[in-house]
Amino acid sequence: MAINDNSTTASAEIEIIDITNSVEVVNPKAVDQNNRLTWLEWFFHHHKDKLRWVHLAMFGLFLVLLFLPLFLADPGEQATPLDNFTVFSNYLMWGLWFPLVFLSVIFTGRSWCGLLCPMGAASEWANKRGLRRRIPAIIRWEGMPIVSFIIITFLGQTVGVRDHPEALAEVFGGVMLMAIIVGFIWGNKNRAWCRHMCPIGLMLGLFSRLGVVQFTSKKPKAGGDKYAENSFCPTMIDLRQKRESRHCIECFRCVNPEAKSSVMVKLRAPGKEVEEIKTHNPGAAEVWFFLLGTGSALGGFLWLTLPEYEMMRQSLGEWFISNEMYWVGESGPWWLMSVHPERREVFNWLDFFSIVGFMAIVTLVFTVVLSAINAITTYLAQLFGSADNFKQSFKELAYQYMPVAMVSLLIGLGGKLFEWLTILGLDNSALISIKIALFSFSIIWSLWLGWKILARQQLKARARIVPCITGLLGSLFVGFCWWPAIFGL
Ligand code: SF4
Ligand code: SF4
Repeated sequence: MAINDNSTTASAEIEIIDITNSVEVVNPKAVDQNNRLTWLEWFFHHHKDKLRWVHLAMFGLFLVLLFLPLFLADPGEQATPLDNFTVFSNYLMWGLWFPLVFLSVIFTGRSWCGLLCPMGAASEWANKRGLRRRIPAIIRWEGMPIVSFIIITFLGQTVGVRDHPEALAEVFGGVMLMAIIVGFIWGNKNRAWCRHMCPIGLMLGLFSRLGVVQFTSKKPKAGGDKYAENSFCPTMIDLRQKRESRHCIECFRCVNPEAKSSVMVKLRAPGKEVEEIKTHNPGAAEVWFFLLGTGSALGGFLWLTLPEYEMMRQSLGEWFISNEMYWVGESGPWWLMSVHPERREVFNWLDFFSIVGFMAIVTLVFTVVLSAINAITTYLAQLFGSADNFKQSFKELAYQYMPVAMVSLLIGLGGKLFEWLTILGLDNSALISIKIALFSFSIIWSLWLGWKILARQQLKARARIVPCITGLLGSLFVGFCWWPAIFGL
């Protein structure tokens, strides 16, 4: 898999932005005509030193949520988040934290990463006290966070991360530990983990491109995004050449409302960066992540839902038995698969191979089919006069599926968020209607993005119609795949 884009080219000539150069007089309360959020810049510029206390509090909260349930008795059948801490912790992680952080990228970009995340903050803290080795090429490889996302997604399913506190502690505690180790060894006053390896960061970064917040240089320099290890940006962005949102964790360190050449915070229309993806560094790695990552998350739901999973498990079991490989009926290590006899859930190697195999097949089928639909859309765009070559056009057009994929992931992985709505008195049919409305909106948004991306490829309005229809088929395919996981069969 060849993954390369110009954001990984180390830049030798980085212009340092002087954020202390106070020459600009601004009204701190203003939201100026260009949608600049001066009041926000002002607030964080004056309070960013207090963020360490927020990080410390979040670190403590995370430790309590992840590890305290390990020392408590299992909750009873009737336990609720209001009367049992283990259930409360599970609800907070899957019913609030995950869906809200995921949704927040639309409204506030990667604010979770820069302002709240205890894992990234711990990684940077370790970096300040660590070995500060140069980041090796293997870590800088753009496929690295894709690999870590897929490993975490598969592992999450085999250990039962949504059901068992031990698995939650293993997966999130493991990510936290890795963030600290990577931070301790590699990088120089930055966050190598957040830029190169974090599976959550990659996902938030990709979807933050749809968001309404952008951090942009007051004095932009031509040339496109560059990777800058000697930048004071913790995720190594060359600030003058910053065009894309995905690596910006919104730490506000480069923001000074009074400085002439710092970075400013602006509002933009939702999806604007994707509409103009051509000039915002579309990346092959992102497209691969989008296809493989969404596919593996989908696989994590479908094995629980589709009868084909049981059929595959049955056939696999018969094959193992016919080959006298009886060990397949034994359980493996606790850190690799769910072994909880007290909760009547014990996976054996057959379960492990079946889950991994089924998820791999779903990932592969999803990737191949959506790639094929996108290739046909690209071919049609070429036929009707796209100004881009096939590879570039394919890359850009793949971004049109982001809204439908995001809503699918949100409804699928954040299903518990919708359960909260029942407290407001909504019944199941009302919830289904809300989900269908969200789903329909996402498909229309995807269609709109496809239309705008094609316009940027210089296709006249009439010439865009046919490639838009195949683009719509791609969105419907994503929706079709998620349907059983979200709405039931
Ligand atoms: S990239 Fe990952 S570890 Fe870093 S701040 Fe974001 S979620 Fe946290
Ligand atoms: S661009 Fe600025 S706000 Fe974004 S991560 Fe870098 S220093 Fe922080």
